Amino acid sequence: MSENPPRPSWDEYFMRIAFTVAERSTCNRAHVGAVIVRDRRILTTGYNGAPAGLPHCDDVGHLIVDGHCVRALHAEQNAIIQAALHGVNIAQSTIYVTHQPCLTCAKMIINAGIRRVVYAGNYPDEHSRAFLRDAGVSLEHFPWHRPGDTVYHPERT
Ligand SMILES: [Zn+2]
Ligand SMILES: [Zn+2]
Repeated sequence: MSENPPRPSWDEYFMRIAFTVAERSTCNRAHVGAVIVRDRRILTTGYNGAPAGLPHCDDVGHLIVDGHCVRALHAEQNAIIQAALHGVNIAQSTIYVTHQPCLTCAKMIINAGIRRVVYAGNYPDEHSRAFLRDAGVSLEHFPWHRPGDTVYHPERT
């Protein structure tokens, strides 16, 4: 009998990294992280935060419109933008996200050619589920113990 803990699965490995990426988030309504992977290699990462050079929610407060903070780009959006910035092809990839993607992110995931979404939960959105399903993108829930800072807090303004 080996005394070593079992090696994590690939899904667990990348999800663990997504939660590490989320620690860089600058919007405390939810720290969200995303990792885009193809062939077991990380292509790009992203966390939710203000556009580069603009003030962070954590410094100047949230910018709330219709109950949502609109200051931050979402983690999935930043991961996709990073691919564009560096000329990385993310077609046929998998995205690991600490939360279920919102509808806007789901639409971007579809058009970026991402084929599989693995998420840890918290942020249910029926429309995004329907869009991903209808576009043939696999959406898989990966149960994970989430740190408190990654829980979505819509009451924080
Ligand atoms: Zn915010
Ligand atoms: Zn989103």
